[in-house]
Amino acid sequence: MSKKKVVLGVDIGGTNTKFGLVDREGNCLATSTMETASHRPPGHFFGRLHENSNRLLENIGEDCELAGVGIGAPNANFYKGTLENPPNLDWDYVDIRAEMGKYRPLPLAVTNDANAAALGEMFFGAARGMKDFIVITLGTGLGSGIVANGALIYGADGLAGEIGHTTVFPDGRLCKCGRLGCLETYASATGLCRTVQELFCNTMTPSELRSVCFRDLTAEMVYKAALGGDPLALEAFRFTGHVLGMKLADSVAHLSPEAIIFSGGLADAGDMVLEPARQAMEEQLFPIYRNKVKLIQTRLTQGNPAVLGAGALIWSVLEKEHAQTS
Ligand SMILES: [Zn+2]
Repeated sequence: MSKKKVVLGVDIGGTNTKFGLVDREGNCLATSTMETASHRPPGHFFGRLHENSNRLLENIGEDCELAGVGIGAPNANFYKGTLENPPNLDWDYVDIRAEMGKYRPLPLAVTNDANAAALGEMFFGAARGMKDFIVITLGTGLGSGIVANGALIYGADGLAGEIGHTTVFPDGRLCKCGRLGCLETYASATGLCRTVQELFCNTMTPSELRSVCFRDLTAEMVYKAALGGDPLALEAFRFTGHVLGMKLADSVAHLSPEAIIFSGGLADAGDMVLEPARQAMEEQLFPIYRNKVKLIQTRLTQGNPAVLGAGALIWSVLEKEHAQTS
C-alpha cells in the first residue's frame, strides 16, 4: 500500500517558528513551535527545524511520507529560495534552499507569509474555487497576497504584492521601511494604536484608554474598549477601516478581484473594521466596480493558518510539477 503524502509547512516569525504536517485536504496532522532565535546563525535554526520536524513525522506514524517543504517568512523570495533583510529577524541574507538541502533532498518552496496565506485560502479556505482575489493579513503590519487568473502573483523578482507599503498620505506617518504614509502605518494593529494616540492629542473625546501608557497600549485593548462602546476606540476603528477601504479601491481597479479576504489579529475585529472599509472602498471605486467585490474574513480557523498556507505553497508547486510531467 502506498504511503499517504504529507508536506511540512513552516511559518518563520520574529519570535517563534510554527511548523506542521499538512495533507492535501488541509488537515494539520501535527504541529509544533520552536523559538526562531535569529541572534544565532541560520545554520543553527535549520538544524533544529530538521530535528524537530523529524520528531513530528515519527509521531504521526510510518504510513506517511514527506513529499515536500513549504516555508513562509517575511521577505522570502520564491524564485531564489532566499530570505533578504527580513524585518524582525537578525539575519541579513539566508539561502534557505542551501540550508535545507543539507538535510533533505526534497522539493522546497518559499515565499512571504502573506503570499502563503493567499495560497492557504485558495487551497483550503474562503477562496476555494476563486481565480481572482486578494488576501490581506492585518497583524503588526499589513501583508498582502494577490491571486489573478488562478495564479499567485510573484512579479519579475518574486516580491510582488506589497500593498502595505503603498502610499495613502504622502506626508503621513513614518513607516519602518523609511517612507512616509504607507498603508500599514494606518491599517494594522500598530497603526490602530498610533491612531488612538493621535486622537488623544487632537480631540477631547473621552476614553478609558487615556489612562494607559502608549507603550502598554495594544490593539486588543482598543478592541475591548470599542466593544464596550468607548467613543474614542470606536472612532479609531472607523478611521482605520476608512483608510484601508480607500486604498483597497486602488487594488480593485488594478485587479478586479472577486473578493478581498482578511486574516490576522486585527481582522478578528470583523465588521468594526470591515464595515467602514467597505463603505470607504465603495465610495472611492470607479463606478464599474461598485457593489461587486466581497470583503470577507478568513475561514481558516481550524489549525494554524500560517502553517496551512506554507503547506498549500508546496502543494501548489508539487501539483504544477505533476501537471507538467504527466
Ligand atoms: Zn512602508
